[in-house]
Amino acid sequence: MQKGKIIKGIGGFYYVHTRDNVIYECRAKGIFRKNGIKPLVGDDVGIEILDEKEKTGNLMEILPRKNTLIRPAVANVDQALVIFAVNRPKPNFNLLDHFLVMMEYQKVKTVICFNKEDLSTKEELEELQRIYAGCESQVLFVSAGQEKGMEAVHEILKGKTTTVAGPSGVGKSTLINRICPQASMETGEISRKIDRGKHTTRHSELFYVEEDTYLMDTPGFSSLMLPEMEKEDLQNYFPDFTPFEPFCRFQGCLHDKEPDCGIKEALAEGKISERRYQSYLEMLEELKDRRKY
Ligand code: GDP
Repeated sequence: MQKGKIIKGIGGFYYVHTRDNVIYECRAKGIFRKNGIKPLVGDDVGIEILDEKEKTGNLMEILPRKNTLIRPAVANVDQALVIFAVNRPKPNFNLLDHFLVMMEYQKVKTVICFNKEDLSTKEELEELQRIYAGCESQVLFVSAGQEKGMEAVHEILKGKTTTVAGPSGVGKSTLINRICPQASMETGEISRKIDRGKHTTRHSELFYVEEDTYLMDTPGFSSLMLPEMEKEDLQNYFPDFTPFEPFCRFQGCLHDKEPDCGIKEALAEGKISERRYQSYLEMLEELKDRRKY
């Protein structure tokens, strides 16, 4: 039996990338259906090779999963890399913070990568650093266009499976193509046009970069919805708020209208960023509205 990783699944076929850098087209044997387990992109699997020339095989075994993301539906993701531009376009902080909450909820570490550093001033970079200082996310500044800071991105990706997200125009394709040229067809303008025009279901797909290193494009990034949660739980996904929560007078404080709130005090003292707090309030409203309807 050979070991490999499912990098794509379409129409009952699973494409398994092995350590020898070969891709086998495999079918899942009945055992999985009986167990109720559906193989997922990202699964580490054992395959039986049927035809070495045709590169076909059978999925025999799914190794235990480290985790399973719901959106995108993929197994064994180690981290997320979210890309925004420092400028042109200006970062959409609400979208960025939505993504951070979504990943925190799914217990996946996020690295924030601000691209187009060449178009920014020192003050702008410091401001971005300050906003995300209290979050557990590492913040990187790069210029994919000018190949600046790319070693740091490479280092972060190495040996891991990373889901890469970002709105259009920020230089995500440029960055991915620098790291993984074989992914270029999927990340450029063409795939976006196909997506828009035909409403095709976007399949999750991993791209092999180097040994044990895979990248995945995160579909549906621009229309992120918060996961199902109680409004009281939202704050759990803002790690920059956590140190100040014990200073709230009321248990279950939502840090909104309540008096003697540790978060609002930290905000007034500049220990929490105004931007992050605004994102929190907007998400809180989103959760309250959801309740009403
Ligand atoms: P995507 O929509 O996020 O995939 O963005 P693209 O990779 O297509 O890039 C959008 C535009 O930004 C293109 O015109 C790129 O040439 C430009 N771009 C990408 N990276 C950089 C960068 O680091 N600096 C500057 N100034 N422009 C960049």
